[in-house]
Amino acid sequence: MNHNTPEKKSIKIPELLAPAGTMEKLQTAILYGADAVYLGGKQFSLRARAGNFDNQGISAAIDYAHGHGVKVYITLNIFAHNRDLTGLEEHLHFLFQAGADALIVADPGILYLCRKTVPELPIHLSTQANITNAASVRFWAEQGISRLNLARELGLEEIREIRSQTDVDLEIFVHGALCISYSGRCMLSSYFTGRDANHGDCAHPCRYSYKLVEKKRPDQTFPVEEDERGTYIFNSRDLCLLGRLPELVAAGADSIKIEGRMKSMGYVGAVVRVYRAALDHIKEKLFLGEKIDSIELPHSFRYEINKIGTRGQTENFFDSPPSNQDMLYDTMRLEQPFAPVGIIRQTVPLLVEARNVLETGDQIEYLGRNLEPVVCTVKAMSTEKGYTVSRANPGNRVVVEISPEPAELLEGAIFRKQIERITL
Ligand code: SF4
Repeated sequence: MNHNTPEKKSIKIPELLAPAGTMEKLQTAILYGADAVYLGGKQFSLRARAGNFDNQGISAAIDYAHGHGVKVYITLNIFAHNRDLTGLEEHLHFLFQAGADALIVADPGILYLCRKTVPELPIHLSTQANITNAASVRFWAEQGISRLNLARELGLEEIREIRSQTDVDLEIFVHGALCISYSGRCMLSSYFTGRDANHGDCAHPCRYSYKLVEKKRPDQTFPVEEDERGTYIFNSRDLCLLGRLPELVAAGADSIKIEGRMKSMGYVGAVVRVYRAALDHIKEKLFLGEKIDSIELPHSFRYEINKIGTRGQTENFFDSPPSNQDMLYDTMRLEQPFAPVGIIRQTVPLLVEARNVLETGDQIEYLGRNLEPVVCTVKAMSTEKGYTVSRANPGNRVVVEISPEPAELLEGAIFRKQIERITL
């Protein structure tokens, strides 16, 4: 078999699936080109601190997304104890009535209740279920699962093999934070802080800085040194498969997924925008007759993704199991060369809600739907009542004059500013 040709008949551009931790993040993901979003209710979803949606919020989110032709998948991916199941059936009826497009589950008990209660609703298997082989795929397909999110621990060759053995939709994580354990098989947070990762409440102790203590000298700590800054022994770099998208498309991925319901609106918008542009680039090249095997993303895509906050990037298991090069031993710090400074609330006049300090004279980037941001300068600012100001603090709404003005300004779009000098 030619590994670059999926068994599925023709090359398909995968769905772009984005996190939606709040209504604002959902709107931002949709503005920048997500085909589908995933979000959680208050009770049965991981990412307990993601600002999850109440029922009214879920209805509003589904209505908004459907109004823009975007699908909504609801996460029900906790590993449930008996007490956690209280109210689930009622919630499932509500989700069905609200128009959810699919449910994302990991726990077989929750899967069972979903199938029994709302058999019409498609069910996707969460990455928490750790699908690592084709037999496992067949097993879950027989349980009525219509889409599988494959484990992040798979390489491209394994994804191709699985693709060749199933017609079930395959979803692949392409960007975002990684666990040092198999997703969902980690008790670090539970042990250290009482916050259970399997109930969506991870405190990320894998990012902490550790020292060594000898049993008989509990008051004395010994540094564990990779270098003069100590070590962060469990701290993984973040996943970034942007450069491998053509191969994933060729391998027959049905959906590519961005992690980050707890990430900021600015992060979600910026990442979705780059991946949308990348998928569109591949689509256009295919349309022009280029072979998928020969398509490469220009460096400008890497340049744009590097502007977004990261703990460094890794392709994880994509080619081979990760090594110590894929870990971040010297810091838990998030590198963030650019920060969002404002979100457009109205385009005429240009009304901006500041998210960081914005000052007259600042050089800022407007993030439209194209890959290239428009670099412009803040010429003047005034309050909504017309008073001239030279500085807007986070939360302030100001009327802004910029030059040059982008050809098209979109409500909800983001301005960002460079805050660190960094080689891109
Ligand atoms: S502590 Fe780290 S590895 Fe464990 S679940 Fe949390 S993020 Fe994942």
